[in-house]
This record gives sequence, structure tokens and C-alpha cells, in this order.
Amino acid sequence: MNKLIDLIKQCLPSRFRPRRYPVTDDTFELTTFEGDIEQWLQNYPVCQTNVDIYYNLAELFRRRGEFDKAVSIHQAISLAKLEGHEPFKLAIEIAHDYYSAGVLSHAEEMLVGALDEADDHTSRQAFRLWLAILEKEQDWHRAIELIEKHGTPGSGSLRLANLYCQYAIELEQRGDYAESASLLTKAMRIEGCRALFLSGLWQERHGKQVLAFQHYVAVLKNNPLRADLVVLPLQQLALELGRQAELLALFAELYQRQPSVRFVESVIELCRLSHQPVSESWSAAIRQQAHLGRSTIVSRYWLEQNADCSETTLALVDSVLASADLSTTEHYVCAQCGRAVEKLLWQCPQCEAWETIYSSYELKLSSSSTQSL
Ligand SMILES: [Zn+2]
Repeated sequence: MNKLIDLIKQCLPSRFRPRRYPVTDDTFELTTFEGDIEQWLQNYPVCQTNVDIYYNLAELFRRRGEFDKAVSIHQAISLAKLEGHEPFKLAIEIAHDYYSAGVLSHAEEMLVGALDEADDHTSRQAFRLWLAILEKEQDWHRAIELIEKHGTPGSGSLRLANLYCQYAIELEQRGDYAESASLLTKAMRIEGCRALFLSGLWQERHGKQVLAFQHYVAVLKNNPLRADLVVLPLQQLALELGRQAELLALFAELYQRQPSVRFVESVIELCRLSHQPVSESWSAAIRQQAHLGRSTIVSRYWLEQNADCSETTLALVDSVLASADLSTTEHYVCAQCGRAVEKLLWQCPQCEAWETIYSSYELKLSSSSTQSL
């Protein structure tokens, strides 16, 4: 018997080592329990004395990606009907196994009873898992229904706002513009930047430039780290609508919070295209940004204004700047878990949080300016 316990101890990683082990006179080979869990369950039926090790084995199989074996064990525990091992809790474990295995319809089936009939804590667990399943299935409509029916007010509001956005995009693709717009309005009332940004795009597509301008401004006021997303469309709209002065004032205010080179680039362009002189306060920012060397536009402008260069020298500088990599967006990063991705995503593929991915440049800038305060 001691030999068996030693064998199991060796096999389990430390955090899965239980305090109790199956008590039996039989001995068996490690390979048997690795290879044929059904046989093992038959030889050693689940009981109060060995149930802990079965839970731990199921966990071990999950870690190995052998979800079918984890399901077999959880089902066997459930069938044993042991005191203190609630069927709904086990149903959630099994649903979790199916979810991890990617068999999402089976996972959903397991949760039906738990969501409506289990105690509060278990029901919340079922709710959270079900929501994750529906998100993975990209079934936005049912995910929204689930939150509206079972979610608590205030919890995960950013998630709900993003589910509205996902569903709005789907509906617009299907040609249901009215419903799509009403979902975006709902999302905008809750939280986050994405609904504001999508509404801006939507208004622009439908020729409503003034409203689009307002929505993009709201994105920046809500979160200046989204400069990469809306500075250029705002610049374009301000020129079309003759609202350059308003935008310059807004950029000046936001630059205090987020000293992004994107604002400075846009100021140069706005002044140039509307034939206005650049104000003194912006000149100081341009000088500083030119020395940081983050932007071709800014560096070139500063040289033009300040350096005593001939046309030939400027042409040479131009070719050097053109070949230098001064891009402000190397990649995008999740502010919550640090995962780097190539393009902007609204949901992090690693930690699954919504609206936590930013341009690496803006994020770094924001953390260094916070630190220096
Ligand atoms: Zn993340």
C-alpha cells in the first residue's frame, strides 16, 4: 500500500497532491491508471475515502488536455451521489471539461439545471461559464440575453457594452441598421470607448459628419490613450467642417494628460492645411517631440522651421527619415495581462478582458507619464 501511495505522489504535481489516497489491498501499475481510467474506476469505485484523489486526477487530466478522462471521472463522482458533492457543482465541472475540450454544445447542456436551480454561489459559477461559452461561440444575441436575465447590475458592464457592440456589427452586416444603431446607443450609455468609436464610424458612413465628429471627440475625452484610433479621422472631419480651432483646443487639453506625438503631428497638419501659424505652446511641444525622434512629420517640420538647411540637405534628411522606422505603433499590448498582438483587438485573446488592448506606444507613454507625476 505504501508503495502505491509513493507511486501516486511521484506522479502528481505538488499542488495536486491530496492528503488522502484510495485504501485498497490491490496494487496496480501506474500505466494502467494512465491508460484506462474506465477500468480503474471499475476496480476502485468512487467513495468518500478516495474521492479526493479522483478530483485531483481529473485536474491532472485537464492539465494534460485529456478532457474525456476528466469527464469520465467527474461523471463517476456525480453518479456516486456522495454527501457534500453536489450534482450541480459536478455538472459545472463536467461543463468546464467540455468547454476546455471545445465541445461547447455539451458544455451548455450541462449548465441548464445549475443556472436556475442551484444555490446562489453555484448558479453564479454556471452563469460565468455559460457566458464564456457563448462568447467563444460568438453567439452575441444569447450572451446578451443571458446577462440581461441572470447578470447583476453593474457587474461586467464593460463586457455587456462590448457584447452590444459585437451584436450591432453582426446586425449591420445583415442589413438591420435600425436595430444595430439602437444597440450602439444602449452600449454608449453603459461604459467604454468602443461603442462611441463604432457610432462615429456609423455616422460617418451615413454622411452625418457633425455627429461623427462628436462621437470621436467623446472617445478621446473618455480615454486619450485611444489617440491612434481617432486623431486622424478627427483631423479630416475638422477640416471638412471648419472646426480646426475647436480641435486644436481639445488636443491642447488632452496633450496634458497624454503627451502623444500623434496630437503634435495632427496639429502641424491642421495648421498647415488651414494656413494658420502654429502657436507658441505647440512650438515647444514640437521641439521636444522632434528631439525624441518619434515622428517623421514632426522632425521634418522642426528642421524646416529651425535649421538653416539648404534644399539639398533637406532632401537628404527626407530620405533618411523616410527609411528610418519612426512608427509610433510597433504592436498592441493588453494593459491587463501584457499579451502582445499585431493589431488592435477589442477582447484580449489571453485574459479575455474587453477593451484592455492599446497601442504599445500610447500605453508606454501613459505609464511613464503617470510614474513621473
Ligand atoms: Zn489580456
